[in-house]
Amino acid sequence: MDIQNVMASDVVDESKMIGNAEGICYAETEEDIINFVKWVIEKSSTITIQGSKTGLVGGSVPNGGYILNLTKYNKIEAGDANSIIAQSGATLLKIGQYIDKHFSNLRFIPNPTESSATIGGIVSNNSRGLNRYGEVGQYIKNIKVLLETLKIVDIKPGEELFDLVVGGEGLYGVILEVELELSIKPADMWAIAFFFEEILESAKFVDQIKGYKEIVAIELLDKNVIKLIQQRREMSTQLAQVPVINDNYAAMIYIEIEGLEEDIMAMAEQLLEIAAECNSNVDDSWVFSGLAEMQKIRNLRHAAVEVIGMEIEKIRLQDSRIMKLSSDIANKKTSASDLVKFYLEDKINIEYCMFGHIGSQNIQVNLLPKTYLEYIESVKLMKKWAKDAIKEGGKIVAEQGYGKLKPYIYGKEIMMQVEQQNRSVVFQ
Ligand SMILES: Cc1cc2nc3c(=O)[nH]c(=O)nc-3n(C[C@H](O)[C@H](O)[C@H](O)COP(=O)(O)OP(=O)(O)OC[C@H]3O[C@@H](n4cnc5c(N)ncnc54)[C@H](O)[C@@H]3O)c2cc1C
Repeated sequence: MDIQNVMASDVVDESKMIGNAEGICYAETEEDIINFVKWVIEKSSTITIQGSKTGLVGGSVPNGGYILNLTKYNKIEAGDANSIIAQSGATLLKIGQYIDKHFSNLRFIPNPTESSATIGGIVSNNSRGLNRYGEVGQYIKNIKVLLETLKIVDIKPGEELFDLVVGGEGLYGVILEVELELSIKPADMWAIAFFFEEILESAKFVDQIKGYKEIVAIELLDKNVIKLIQQRREMSTQLAQVPVINDNYAAMIYIEIEGLEEDIMAMAEQLLEIAAECNSNVDDSWVFSGLAEMQKIRNLRHAAVEVIGMEIEKIRLQDSRIMKLSSDIANKKTSASDLVKFYLEDKINIEYCMFGHIGSQNIQVNLLPKTYLEYIESVKLMKKWAKDAIKEGGKIVAEQGYGKLKPYIYGKEIMMQVEQQNRSVVFQ
């Protein structure tokens, strides 16, 4: 077990929050992890667990104590006929490569978009991908966890501890290994992007197509996030492969379809008709068939999160009191139109971007205040949206987790209503 000095890059994640710690351990074996946890407990200190630090809410940012980083603990092996067992530091990229090599007809279906994220981080946040297949927790057969009592337990779906650890943000123990269930790949896949001059027309389109079983993902990108992405096209060769989007469009709806080729083609025809009825200029639509082609446009959706991170970093250089403000709320609005109207009703006069899983009623509004006064106004808006979600019986955190950022932004009054249960005192 080797405890190293902490560097600036060890205490920040994609929320751009900056923390501090007394030392960091890059564990490579189970024995390293156990010895480190034991050592910290004996010192009566605390541990912040880290994967790849791609989290968006400061969950892996330490507030004192020590850091346990698991990126070097990353072996993968086959489980039964349709599962794999990954050590918690294995990244999504490595898991994907392993599956392609050993199970070419199978896939890990939830597929969150950040491929450098580790499976430990993904399970701790119960992350989800673009598709409608839901959260990672639904595709886990077993998790091996080290508790603060130093006991190692295997937990399975349906058990109380499973529900705490999955989405538990590293507050209940160290996830050592995860057994992931794999699913059969679809015969074919297509992606289509539709463009709209009015964002409400794009939401109307979504409401009309939500029920089709062939459609597995419906995502929104508004004009503000598209503008930020286009300004940074040069940052990635993958983005440069995506056509330039016309300035007059207020929204893009990105759809993924899976199934047999003939069914997908019939579905695509139908979608073009419905989009035209909702005033989309269908001649400008993009169609990509097959996973390799689709990856180009998936990169565009992925870039939405990246450019917001860059923008926040830039803003924080001017005023470090300004924090990342991303409403990751699941309220109870029943249609995409009501959801978009809800945010637009506030006539936000601060720069913002709206994007995300509009097909499953979960879009994020990222507020980008340029001054501290605008930041104060933005926090008020975030609190208003959170209170509205709580009043309706919705959730103030849909997929990013609370981390250390959300309690900081929402404050005691809101957090008291959503406090996490039975969390450990060692893991923070
Ligand atoms: C460009 C981009 C795109 C993204 N896309 C998505 C997306 O599509 N869907 C989505 O849900 N999220 C997405 N995210 C957010 C992020 O990738 C996920 O939250 C991911 O799960 C974090 O994994 P990580 O390894 O980086 O974890 P970290 O950020 O290092 O940690 C996240 C949390 O998990 C805990 N943790 C980490 N490892 C363990 C372990 N072994 N045991 C116990 N606790 C642990 C940490 O303490 C922390 O609370 C995206 C982020 C970026 C930057």
